[in-house]
Amino acid sequence: MYLLYVDESGVPTGKHDDHFVLAGLALHEEDCYPMARSLDALQRRILPGPNGDLELHASRIISGRSEWSHVAKAERLSVLQQSFGMLKDWVAPSGRKPVYFAVVVHKRSWPGRNAVQLAYDHLLAKFDTFLTRLHLSGDSHRSLVIADESSYEKLLQRIMPRWKDGSEGPKKLHSLVEVPLFVGSKASRLIQAVDLVAWATYNYYERGHARYFEHIYDRFDAQEGVQHGLTHLVRGYRECGCVPCQSRRLREIAAAPAAWADVQRP
Ligand SMILES: [Zn+2]
Repeated sequence: MYLLYVDESGVPTGKHDDHFVLAGLALHEEDCYPMARSLDALQRRILPGPNGDLELHASRIISGRSEWSHVAKAERLSVLQQSFGMLKDWVAPSGRKPVYFAVVVHKRSWPGRNAVQLAYDHLLAKFDTFLTRLHLSGDSHRSLVIADESSYEKLLQRIMPRWKDGSEGPKKLHSLVEVPLFVGSKASRLIQAVDLVAWATYNYYERGHARYFEHIYDRFDAQEGVQHGLTHLVRGYRECGCVPCQSRRLREIAAAPAAWADVQRP
């Protein structure tokens, strides 16, 4: 079984930002517990005592808000930096690596469309492509989607059955064993991990900040020079110089995130 942890960054409607990002973290069931424990251990090493259990939530850590307000800035930044170091390098005892996915919706490029549904359609299609590739190599898995309970639960519960029967979304998803499950991010280190992936991706496409994104970007699902796991949904994507858009044209994945000036932002 493969689990896909899902979280978003940005808001799907309105004009206060340009992008909505939905990210996924795919893990084999045996690798979930070791990865969660590794994140626990990392945070407790930097913050012994009760702060070792604080929720890893990137925007609150950076700004020192809510539960992070009493933690010194140097410690907060150390937690964030080392957590991204883990997302970059962590390998399960099995030898498998976590696989990341993200869909970046440029909202104005899709007038009249529901950005949440659009992003989920693409995210699950890419996850399904990944599982199909494993299946074709003789490694078959069922799958389960686990989302933050603050996400768009009602919308998903309504549209999910249509993904399974193939009447909605880009393709029928054979592998799903159940509708998405919703868990509190406080209780799940892996929902917290995918929050970091969503946040870093959002900050790159919305603001051009590559500092954290560059740690994760080469772990997006990829095959034969195409970065399938990262999808940039923007008008004029053929002119876009971002790594996934360019990889679809050149069949080659650049060694570092593109300069923001080369990213299509109509
Ligand atoms: Zn692009």
